[in-house]
Amino acid sequence: MTTLIKNGTIITATDTYKADILVKNGQVSEIGREISKIASEIIDAADKWVLPGAVDVHTHLDALCDGMTTVDDFETSTAAAAAGGTTTVVDYAQQTPGASLAQTLEGWKAKASPRAVVDYGFHMELSEVNDTTLAEIPAMLEAGVTSFKISLDGPADRRIGDAAVLEFLQRVGAAGGLACIHAENGEVINLLVRRLAQEGKTLPRYIPMCRPPEVEAEATSRVITFAELARVPVYLTNLSSAHAAEKVKAARDRGQPVFAETCPHYLVLASDRYEESEGIKYYSTPPLRPSWHQEVLWKALATGDVHVVGSDHAAFNYAGQKDAGKENFSQAPRGLPGIQERISLVYWAGVHTGKISPNRFVDLVSATPAKLFGLFPRKGTLAVGSDADMVIFDPKADQTLSKSIGLSRVDYCPYEGMKIRGAPWLVIQRGRSISREGKVMGKPGAGEYVARSRFAGI
Ligand SMILES: [Zn+2]
Repeated sequence: MTTLIKNGTIITATDTYKADILVKNGQVSEIGREISKIASEIIDAADKWVLPGAVDVHTHLDALCDGMTTVDDFETSTAAAAAGGTTTVVDYAQQTPGASLAQTLEGWKAKASPRAVVDYGFHMELSEVNDTTLAEIPAMLEAGVTSFKISLDGPADRRIGDAAVLEFLQRVGAAGGLACIHAENGEVINLLVRRLAQEGKTLPRYIPMCRPPEVEAEATSRVITFAELARVPVYLTNLSSAHAAEKVKAARDRGQPVFAETCPHYLVLASDRYEESEGIKYYSTPPLRPSWHQEVLWKALATGDVHVVGSDHAAFNYAGQKDAGKENFSQAPRGLPGIQERISLVYWAGVHTGKISPNRFVDLVSATPAKLFGLFPRKGTLAVGSDADMVIFDPKADQTLSKSIGLSRVDYCPYEGMKIRGAPWLVIQRGRSISREGKVMGKPGAGEYVARSRFAGI
C-alpha cells in the first residue's frame, strides 16, 4: 500500500516548503519535488497545508472526576480527535487510591485498546505519593509510560504536601521521567470555597473567586523552586494566568528547564462566561480568566515561554452532570471538552490573527508535545522514517463550531456558534485516511499503543 500526497505545502515546526510525500507501509518513505512514482492512492493537496498529525498530551478520555464519569469513552473521544486533526493522544491514566501503577496501566490499556481510533499513550497520574507508588516508577518507564503527574489542588483528605512534591520530583527525575504538575494551592482553595459558601456565594459567577490567579502563581512558583532544588525538569499542566506565566518566564530566563502547557479555553474564552445562565458549563480548573490574560498567554506561546497547547478534554454533559452545580458550583464536575476543536482554534485565534507563525502553530500542537513526551521523530514531524500521520489542512475553509458537528458524546460545545477560518480537510494515520472534512472513517481499535521514550530535553 503506497500513497502519494501531491502539490501540498509542507509545514513542520521548522520549515515551510512545497513538496510531494510518498508513504509506504505506514511511514514517510520519500519527500521531494514532483515525485512521479506509481502509488495505489494519489491525494491532491494543492492550495492546502500538509502538517504532521497533531499530538494532544492532555486528555481525560474515559475518566472519573469528582465522582462522575466522563460521557465519552476512547471510541467517541478519539473519533473527535481524528476529526479535529489529532492523530496521537497521551491520556492521563488515573491511579485510584490503593491500586498499583501496573494495575492502573493495564486498566487504561483495556479501555483504549478495543476502541481507540487514533494512536495513544499514557501518563500516569498518581493519587498518592508513597514508597510503594514511587518504587513502581522505573517499571512504568520500561512499559513506555515516561511522564507522571500529581495535582496540588486536591481535597483536604488527599492533599499532597511539600515533602511529597519534592520527593515526587526527585524520584521521577532520577528515573529519567518527566514530572507533570497541576499547580494550584488546594489548601487555600478549600478555605476560599468555604468562605464563599458561608457568604452564600455559590453560584457559578463566583467560580473565579475561589481559584484566583495568585493561587495558581503561588503553587507554580513553589513547584519551580522544588524542581530547582531537585535539579530536574518540570512540566506545568493547564497554565491559565498571566501571573503563573510570569513565574515560568522568570525561571526560564534563569536557564531552568521549566515547561508549560496552556489550553484552548484559556486562549479564547474568558471569565465573563460564568455570568451566563448556563455558566457552570465552563467550570474548569484553573477557571477561565478575564480576557486580558489571553494576550499574555499568546505572547508567551509566541516567545517560547509556554510550549504546548493541550486540550484537557474532559467531557461531562450539562444535563445531569454539570447542572448539578447550577446553584452551587462545587457540586459540578470540572472540565471542558475540546479535543476536536483544539487545532482549529489555535490556528484561527493564533495564526489567522497573526499572533503566531504557521511553524509555531505546528510546534505547539504537534512537535514540542511529541519531543517532551518521547514520541519524536516518530510523531510530531514529517521526515523520512516518521509515521505517516498527517493533517491536510485547509487554511481558507470556514467552519462554525457547534455541538452539531462534534463527535464527542457531550451535550454542549463551549465554542457554540463561533465562526472560524481554517479546518482539517483530510487526516491520515500511518498512511490510512481516518477522517475527511469532519467525517471519520477510522475504525475503533485501529489506534495503536505507543510506548514512549524517556525525556531527553527539547
Ligand atoms: Zn486535566
